[in-house]
Amino acid sequence: MAENKIHKLALQKQERFSQPEITNSISISKLKGKRKAQPNTRKLINEILNGDITALSRAITLVESKNSKHIKKANAIIKACLPHANNSIRIGITGVPGVGKSTFIEAFGKHLTGLGKKVAVLAIDPSSTITKGSILGDKTRMEDLVKDKNAFIRPSATGNSLGGVARKTRETIMLCEAAGFDTIIIETVGVGQSETAVHSMVDFFLLLKLAGAGDELQGIKRGIIEMADAIVINKADGDNIKPAKLAKVEFSRALHLYPEKDSKWMPKVSICSAMQNEGVTDVWNMILEYETLTKQNEYFEFNRRKQNKFWLIQTIEEQLKSDFFNNSEIKKELKHQLHLIETKKTTPFSAAEYLLKL
Ligand code: GDP
Repeated sequence: MAENKIHKLALQKQERFSQPEITNSISISKLKGKRKAQPNTRKLINEILNGDITALSRAITLVESKNSKHIKKANAIIKACLPHANNSIRIGITGVPGVGKSTFIEAFGKHLTGLGKKVAVLAIDPSSTITKGSILGDKTRMEDLVKDKNAFIRPSATGNSLGGVARKTRETIMLCEAAGFDTIIIETVGVGQSETAVHSMVDFFLLLKLAGAGDELQGIKRGIIEMADAIVINKADGDNIKPAKLAKVEFSRALHLYPEKDSKWMPKVSICSAMQNEGVTDVWNMILEYETLTKQNEYFEFNRRKQNKFWLIQTIEEQLKSDFFNNSEIKKELKHQLHLIETKKTTPFSAAEYLLKL
């Protein structure tokens, strides 16, 4: 209660001095009588800070919108929420389809809400940029967790580029934290660059694997092993227990060959059965161990600052690209230049030079 009051006071102060766009959008929406369709920004911010899930969902929809008015509103909301974000542990989970990510996240999430945590599950789905689908779109996934009042599950944002989707996910993380979620799980499938994007927005990166027939290290990208803070071998149940234990030994041995991480954390390997809810607690304890170590040696904060700087550059790049390609003159000229390239009347380089100078 007291915390909510402080939130509100801080908010009022902020709005008075630095948020003219909020007042503007409120009066505009009043004038247009569109309050219901376009929620009042200030009200939305207050509700988010009070942990209202409906308001949080609405704000995320604004973040994901391409409409310029929505984007302006979303930016105002994020700005107001920012001082209340950051107080969380952000966990990235990756693995091939079928490895058991949603089964694991469900068991893991339930364990955490059982401990009194508030868990938000978001996703970065590279395939959604092509198919407009979503790995979390399937309503049957995480059925129990969906019903948990201390959990919030949001399907992946869609967009034309991984950079755009990643930016929206980062902003969604901020909103979830401002709404009081203290554990943020970002799920992704091991496709393309999505793991790198997720790795650059989380504190702890977990790779889910299956035990194979002694070929565990084959077909796994070196970069992913380097990023992983933990490798968890799932489906360690029934006949699979023995291969899972063997895989654990092999991965542990392999991880020792990698150079020490800046975090000074020695990546760990564990086995679990998400389906039978075994070994899930161990994963959480491992993450707590990581958090203690990296907060003590100050890597935790250092890494978040490093990530923020990285995302500043990424956001500028995204913005420049989107401004360029959405410019109507460029659109027209680009068509023309593409035609000239096809008819061999210009080269890609001189066409690019011409377009960039427009
Ligand atoms: P995702 O595609 O990575 O999200 O994988 P799912 O969580 O949808 O799981 C894929 C299949 O593996 C489902 O049929 C699950 O029931 C099954 N599965 C998940 N975890 C386990 C486990 O720990 N043990 C066993 N035996 N099956 C599991």
